[in-house]
Amino acid sequence: MKFNTKTIHAGQKPEETSGAVMPPIFQTSTYAQEAPNKHKGYDYARVGNPTRTALEQMIAGLEGADEAACFSSGVAAMDSLMKMLRPGDHVVTTNDLYGGSYRLFTKVFEPYRIDFTFVDMTDLEKVKDAITPQTKLMWIETPTNPLLRIVDIEALVGLAKPNDILTVVDNTFASPYLQRPLEFGADAVLHSATKYLAGHSDVIHGAVASSNQEIMENLRFQTKTSGAVPGPMDCYLTLRGIKTLSVRVQRSVDNAKQIASFLESHDKVESVLYPGLSSHPQHELAAKQMDDFGAMLSFILKDDSIEAATKFMSNTSIFTLAESLGGVESLISHPASMTHGSIPKDVREKAGLKDSLIRISVGIEDADDLIDDLKQAF
Ligand SMILES: *Cc1c(COP(=O)(O)O)cnc(C)c1O
Repeated sequence: MKFNTKTIHAGQKPEETSGAVMPPIFQTSTYAQEAPNKHKGYDYARVGNPTRTALEQMIAGLEGADEAACFSSGVAAMDSLMKMLRPGDHVVTTNDLYGGSYRLFTKVFEPYRIDFTFVDMTDLEKVKDAITPQTKLMWIETPTNPLLRIVDIEALVGLAKPNDILTVVDNTFASPYLQRPLEFGADAVLHSATKYLAGHSDVIHGAVASSNQEIMENLRFQTKTSGAVPGPMDCYLTLRGIKTLSVRVQRSVDNAKQIASFLESHDKVESVLYPGLSSHPQHELAAKQMDDFGAMLSFILKDDSIEAATKFMSNTSIFTLAESLGGVESLISHPASMTHGSIPKDVREKAGLKDSLIRISVGIEDADDLIDDLKQAF
């Protein structure tokens, strides 16, 4: 089955008792048993729910994995995955990381004596130098947020495998429509399904897909034991969203390309960070690793001040000023004062995050309207 067909049919079959084409929302906490421990595969809804199973099979199909496990949020999925590690273990990850991942690593897991090294993962030498005999996990995010750098998944897997290091890729920004990390040898893929997978900014949801038995057994153990599971209604909404993943993402990408070239030619713009532009430092790698260049982009104003960025963002009317991404509507945000505001200015600047950097998540509206909105905001 090819990808677009999978978004409709992977793991999906009509419901057995009624023939319902869409999986019912199994709103139940428990299941009747014929005799003690004799049941139809479900005994308690923390452990499993048929609506969740339908979604898990779908996500596994999209990522080319044997299995997937769903969670109540993206960070809950990360939290469950990280619990495979033990005190003394070491993780190598990117310095251009989703803020919530950074907070989870440093505020939750570091106190339990898991060590982290944050490096620029576009520099393979730096990654190599960061590996120690204690390194158990490489946590990759690509494209990165908000600088839209592209990290070479295959090259990092090549560094990890000989050292028995597991590789996990946070694939939230690309979605499986554009990038399937398991094809490059990664051990597991993580999603904040809140974003492109669900796609309508109406649900918080997370997932991990993998063909690695040890990882999946650990995740099943975590869902049963720590219990960060999604409700059946949220599973249904995410599954419903996935049915249009291909058409939504493709249209967003088409819009993003037009917006990127508009911004690149505007005299008030210093630079545009978008992997689809030939000016992007990892443009070639993006073309190799992704099926298309994504719908996230950032740009920096010539007037590099928080005031100039704030003024610009208060002027847009179709772009909504909000955190998050990956929905059908276009969003605009200011990392220096919003998602990355707690990082000191000098540290921000050193990492390449300028005060006037504006990030946009391009939706599926008409590109002309989006460009007009940006035009008048200048
Ligand atoms: C939003 C996001 C997360 C966290 O997911 P939630 O569903 O908000 O918990 C993790 N990684 C990336 C890249 C994200 O954008």
